[in-house]
Amino acid sequence: MEQLIVAVFFILFTLEFLVEFGLNELNLRYVRARWAERKIPDFFQGKIDPADYEKSVEYTLAKGRFQRWAEIYDGVVTLLVLFSGALPFLDKFSAQLAGTFFPIGQGRGIIFCAGVALIFSVAGLPTDLYATFGLEARFGFNKMTPKLYIADKLKALLIGLAIGAPFLFVVLWLMEVMGRHWWIWAFLFISGFQLLMIIVYPTLIAPLFNKFEPLREGELRDRILSLADQIGFKTRGIYSMDGSKRSAHSNAYFTGIGKAKRIVLFDTLIDQMTIEEGLAVLAHEMGHYKMKHIRRMLVVQTVFLFGGLYLLSLLVNYQPFFAAFGFDHTSNHAALVLFSLLAGPFTFYLGPLMNLLSRKHEYEADRFATITLHNGRPMEEALVNLTIKNLSNLTPHPWYSAYHYSHPTPAERIAAIRQRSV
Ligand SMILES: [Zn+2]
Repeated sequence: MEQLIVAVFFILFTLEFLVEFGLNELNLRYVRARWAERKIPDFFQGKIDPADYEKSVEYTLAKGRFQRWAEIYDGVVTLLVLFSGALPFLDKFSAQLAGTFFPIGQGRGIIFCAGVALIFSVAGLPTDLYATFGLEARFGFNKMTPKLYIADKLKALLIGLAIGAPFLFVVLWLMEVMGRHWWIWAFLFISGFQLLMIIVYPTLIAPLFNKFEPLREGELRDRILSLADQIGFKTRGIYSMDGSKRSAHSNAYFTGIGKAKRIVLFDTLIDQMTIEEGLAVLAHEMGHYKMKHIRRMLVVQTVFLFGGLYLLSLLVNYQPFFAAFGFDHTSNHAALVLFSLLAGPFTFYLGPLMNLLSRKHEYEADRFATITLHNGRPMEEALVNLTIKNLSNLTPHPWYSAYHYSHPTPAERIAAIRQRSV
């Protein structure tokens, strides 16, 4: 049985790798071919400087080539962690550590999970460092100093521990004491926790990394306030964020629920856009709010959580599942870790489905902006502008974007906006 479990995992793992790798290759070729013919979407004709187009192609190709190596590296790390005996060793070591330093219930489980998280964070450093200080810097996007980079990592580690340890404590405790139906209790707890995080993240955690300020006085602010008023969005929830301290990339997002909801515009975006374009972006974000997109996403995630925990409840006492990965006994914490490490090759195929839903939301928000402003032009201009400034891929392979993109391509969005404006 153990061999069968390993074999099934291995096949699915390889399949995921091949699909991922193949899509990347397809995309690289596609972009190169369009570049050779100088074939860009109509909407960009005459709007993008040929030098900018060339730079965006170079950026896309550089990212794709890096992606190749990053995927191989990540795959090797995952296989090593799973099959080198590192996990059972870490489990025994955690028991010793917990006995000496952390003699509370679930101490061993918490140390074990933290240890696994640490292994993956350290293993991820080389690719992360190269992406930030190599790739992004080469194209002029990185604004992060090594000092800020280290400070960010340390902060994230501390926050992760402060939130993760109590969270794990409760989940492991529920698994231990709630009997056969522990997973229903865990489901209720994790759902509540997620809801809490949606409120806590934008209001308490994100401000630890960035400065959030009300928009500066001026025409943009005045017009945004009157737009917000017209739509019925609390104007106190509109912020500008100092994204420029890490990256020259520009963005805007809507987050939170209830009183914690807010629209955040990166300072880079405000600097790059005309007032009309900025207003269109804001109307788009308000569309996400009006159509309750966060709530809808949350419902879908909750369904996945329910299914995932049920599956985990079937595996948690199944000896061969543990034996397949070198554990000589079953345990709740090992089940949690194995389950999350093994889930990738299975849940990989849900990614495109979630992206499909997310893309639907983007179309809806664009449409909302178009209707609210009685004009699709500003949204179009904003999309073109954002694409050029971020050196986004003008011509992604359709399969690649269908799989990986949470947003429709700018060309798709503009086409949809035009169709509706007619
Ligand atoms: Zn959006």
